[in-house]
Amino acid sequence: MSYVPYHEPNTITMFAGPCSIESAKQLDEVGAALSDLGLSWIRGGAFKPRTSPYSFQGLGEEGLKIMSDVGEKYGLKTLTEIVDTAHIDMVMSYISALQIGTRNMANFELLKAVGAATAENHKPVLFKRGMAATIDEWLSAVEYLTVGGNPNVMLCERGLRTFETSTRFTLDISAVPVVHKRSLFPICVDVSHPAGQVDLVPSLAKAAIAAGCDALMIEIHPNPPKAKSDASQQLTLPDFAELLEELKAVAAAVGKTIV
Ligand code: PEP
Ligand code: MN
Repeated sequence: MSYVPYHEPNTITMFAGPCSIESAKQLDEVGAALSDLGLSWIRGGAFKPRTSPYSFQGLGEEGLKIMSDVGEKYGLKTLTEIVDTAHIDMVMSYISALQIGTRNMANFELLKAVGAATAENHKPVLFKRGMAATIDEWLSAVEYLTVGGNPNVMLCERGLRTFETSTRFTLDISAVPVVHKRSLFPICVDVSHPAGQVDLVPSLAKAAIAAGCDALMIEIHPNPPKAKSDASQQLTLPDFAELLEELKAVAAAVGKTIV
């Protein structure tokens, strides 16, 4: 297994964007900000795996169209979560890279289908760790995605369910060096979902860079209090711009640039 082409050595890929794609205007504002900052990716959910059926479920295909338009307008690559085998062709037709979320890490039929669908086209896949999965289970499950021949897979640590309630999930920073020791997959750290609150995001992001992450995921929103999902953990666009400057300095200290 070699490093994925969509991750260059000595870079940290920034996957920033809203939790959910909510409207063309919302995503356009985020896309404009990311491109002004010189970043290359935008993230956002169109199919949201929500804890409650009464919560916002995402815009579905309309959201994918919005993301595709914003990606094209600002020259950004696009990342969105896939939750159903029936959506694979549709999502791949709009989006640069597929995310498999924590709730689907052990949905092996979805993994098999995504592995088969990306075997030839090598579409990048970001594979999150299950919130109650061991690193062994995660590194075993990722093979479902690569066994068909797609080498373009990046792992993503996003926090575990533990007895601790001060944070939304407990971020397992040690997953970064363990994954590097045990595999050749690059590893992203999603710092927003474990934080659950904006004020913890900067420290977790700096810790992830210091630990050697290859990518970061940070949720941002033009108007976080009005966000339709994960309102308390999304940074405003100016706060994100400020944080990015601090993160660039930490990245430089470990010989990396943020892209
Ligand atoms: C997300 O990144 O939008 C998401 C739902 O994350 P997770 O699967 O880690 O909860
Ligand atoms: Mn979210």
